[in-house]
Amino acid sequence: MTIIDGKAFALKLREKIAGAVRDIKSSCNIQPALAVVLVGEDPASQVYVRNKGIATEKAGMRSIEHKLAADASEDDVVSLVKKLNADEEVDGILVQLPLPDHISSERVINEIHPDKDVDGLTEANAGRLILGKTGLVPCTPQGSVMLAKSVRDNLSGLNAVVVGRSILVGKPLAMLLLAENCTVTMAHSRTKNLDEVCREADILCAAVGRPRMVEGRWVKEGATVIDVGINRIEEDGKTRLIGDVDFDSAKERAGAITPVPGGVGPMTIACLLRNTVIAAARRRGLGAVE
Ligand code: NDP
Repeated sequence: MTIIDGKAFALKLREKIAGAVRDIKSSCNIQPALAVVLVGEDPASQVYVRNKGIATEKAGMRSIEHKLAADASEDDVVSLVKKLNADEEVDGILVQLPLPDHISSERVINEIHPDKDVDGLTEANAGRLILGKTGLVPCTPQGSVMLAKSVRDNLSGLNAVVVGRSILVGKPLAMLLLAENCTVTMAHSRTKNLDEVCREADILCAAVGRPRMVEGRWVKEGATVIDVGINRIEEDGKTRLIGDVDFDSAKERAGAITPVPGGVGPMTIACLLRNTVIAAARRRGLGAVE
């Protein structure tokens, strides 16, 4: 049984990205730049934005932070996004979610130019993913597939079950697995006999947001288990982060499994950096970034 070390994989990926950034700098003397928009003062969002900024600079790219007050209007945020769309020096734009209640995230996100949409959340990029066209792919699903591929030479023909059908994770993850020629089942809160459905999976992905919902007996012997869930729970007087999969029982049957923390989580920022370099290279007609 392999415990998939997402932290180590993400670190290697980040080193590769830093190499691609150096190549872009030396070949055309530009520094790829990621602009992050934060509206309001949500403490968790502030931490995420700070961490993304640090990771961006560590990879050799420029990080530009735009902070707007919590009472900024929807039009203020849209104008900023439009300005960043037009800014030649900006390669990637990320609007930190959630936005305050009075602002439509759907409107703001869809104002981002698809070629700079490094979170892959615009309708244009969702459409490209479904149509199998080149676009920018959401980071967490991309990272999840990379981890599955790190332990399976070929996903083609395997049964994949994705539990969860959110726009952010479940749906794009299912599309990416389909693009790898898996036979994909999307399960959700109305799925009947979920345990039986899961036991059919060679690749079992959980993106639900329910601590330890997927039990060991739901896992097929030898399956690859990708646990996207991040749940904060109080246990034995301590706050702990745990996944949607009951790790201890699942690892007894899985062939490979991602832990939480240290599995899919670290891949998300790494894939954001990757998308930024990909966006920078494509905008300038440079060669493909791995
Ligand atoms: P959402 O709440 O948007 O979606 C949850 C999905 O789970 C829904 O499709 C829902 O089904 C389904 N679901 C809920 N209850 C059940 C159930 N009892 N049985 C089967 N399916 C169920 O969550 P997200 O997709 O945004 O996130 C999922 C998890 O991934 C969370 O723990 C989140 O913290 C984590 N996450 C981790 C990231 C990372 O970097 N590793 C990044 C993003 C998210 P229905 O549609 O029918 O309601």
